[in-house]
Amino acid sequence: MEANQEQQEFIFRSRLPDVYIPNHLPLQTYCFEKISQFKDHPCLINGPNGRIYSYAEVELTARRVATGLNNLGIQQGDVIMLLLQNSPEFVFAFLGASFLGAISTTANPFYTPAEIVKQATASKTRLLITQAVYAEKVKNFAKENDIKIITIDTPPEGCMHFSELTQADESEIPPVKINPDDVVALPYSSGTTGLPKGVMLTHKSLVTSVAQQVDGENPNLYFHEKDVILCVLPLFHIYSLNSVLLCSLRVGAAILIMQKFEIVTLMELVQKYKVTIAPLVPPIVLAIAKTPDVDKYDLSSIRTVMSGAAPMGKELEDAVRARLPNAKLGQGYGMTEAGPVLAMNLAFAKQACETKSGSCGTVVRNAEMKIVNPDTGASLPRNQSGEICIRGSQIMKGYLNDPEATQRTIDKDGWLHTGDVGYIDDDDELFIVDRLKELIKYKGFQVAPAELEAMLIGHPNIFDAAVVPMKDEAAGEVPVAFVVRSNGSKITEDEIKQFISKQVVFYKRLGQVFFTEAIPKAPSGKILRKDLRARLASDIPK
Ligand code: AMP
Repeated sequence: MEANQEQQEFIFRSRLPDVYIPNHLPLQTYCFEKISQFKDHPCLINGPNGRIYSYAEVELTARRVATGLNNLGIQQGDVIMLLLQNSPEFVFAFLGASFLGAISTTANPFYTPAEIVKQATASKTRLLITQAVYAEKVKNFAKENDIKIITIDTPPEGCMHFSELTQADESEIPPVKINPDDVVALPYSSGTTGLPKGVMLTHKSLVTSVAQQVDGENPNLYFHEKDVILCVLPLFHIYSLNSVLLCSLRVGAAILIMQKFEIVTLMELVQKYKVTIAPLVPPIVLAIAKTPDVDKYDLSSIRTVMSGAAPMGKELEDAVRARLPNAKLGQGYGMTEAGPVLAMNLAFAKQACETKSGSCGTVVRNAEMKIVNPDTGASLPRNQSGEICIRGSQIMKGYLNDPEATQRTIDKDGWLHTGDVGYIDDDDELFIVDRLKELIKYKGFQVAPAELEAMLIGHPNIFDAAVVPMKDEAAGEVPVAFVVRSNGSKITEDEIKQFISKQVVFYKRLGQVFFTEAIPKAPSGKILRKDLRARLASDIPK
């Protein structure tokens, strides 16, 4: 990385040369650009039943799904929601929508009906693809809003089966002209503040991001067409969608799909299919490092373990290194709004040396990174901590229908402000040391304090509330609430916890509730979260 002081700015770039990025191409064209080289290779291996789909089959099925969606009235620019656990159908649906110029908004199927409805309404979802067990959650909403529901398994009454899409004729796919700035994926993220918002990732963003990771002559080329990649992280999160699925499609690797994480099944599948690359999050790394039975399985095929989405401490790194001595271990650093990869470990490159423990890599190619003083906005030299900012064609186009939030996140010079605090050392390695933003991360999943605060304040017995992260060994962080009771109220911790649990997915549940006299606030009304975090670090967090 070069610090360019001529512009009086400290801007850091990758040590590796830039690559040619064909980001004028639609995402699916780019991903399948080299398909003639590996059309008969396995593309998807469905873990639960062992069914293997070749590259040619996946591409053909995606085209059929595109026609099938169009037959149901979905057109270029329309939004479909994928409310699915990992499955081949997730891949067909995402790529099918992409072929059609339509947009996939991805959501966690464990969300409560209210959480799903919020996202479906905000994104103007026109069709929903899900599993029969989750269809019940959205049936009424879908009926009232004339939204079709398709299930990948036996459809409940009123729903259609996914095969109606795959049986369509691929030659009838409508001709569409996809612009590089058209949105293709719409994951939801709360970013640095507030409620979850639709993150508009365009064809250009995702092509650029994938190319930054896997294209070029001497890139961070950590996988190729002979690799078998473990796809255990949920595809509804951009980490897995981009760095597992799209990167694998581009290089022609086989993608081993696990519907959900379960440690014994994971080890059996790794052994059976000789998995070579394991993109993970710290809680799964922990399970591999600490589960006694791991020793019974042959995991020696794994040559790379990549951890991201949340910090991984040195002890955990050491423990997994001891367990998998043949594997290179490294971290990646991502944020949905950044496309998502900002930095990755050079240890993945062909001839790179190991990087330092705790480092989350170096900035990706064809991008610029700077570290700014959050008070003055001035960029900082090496070894000084500040807010991490990134610029490049991979970042989001903006938040859907929210120009103000977009402007707060991407400044007029095109820098995306992450809300993460870190520094770049003498060897170009990035270390994340803190978070300025409100976001709480439970096992890598996002919890937006504003969402929980709005629910708490809506309770008649609660006068005011604030939600902050509390450190937790298993989850990394859990949300906890400081609550001011309304006059005369005797509401208890349990009642508050239950009130929230009923409305949210499991990882947004409150770990603890602390009753307090007042929520500390700045004159502007902004909650002084730092003060509350400091209270948590003290003995009696009141
Ligand atoms: P998401 O948008 O859900 O991917 O969450 C992005 C946030 O996760 C980042 O802004 C960081 O706060 C955190 N994060 C992601 N990767 C890492 C990492 N390797 N180390 C520490 N925090 C991370």
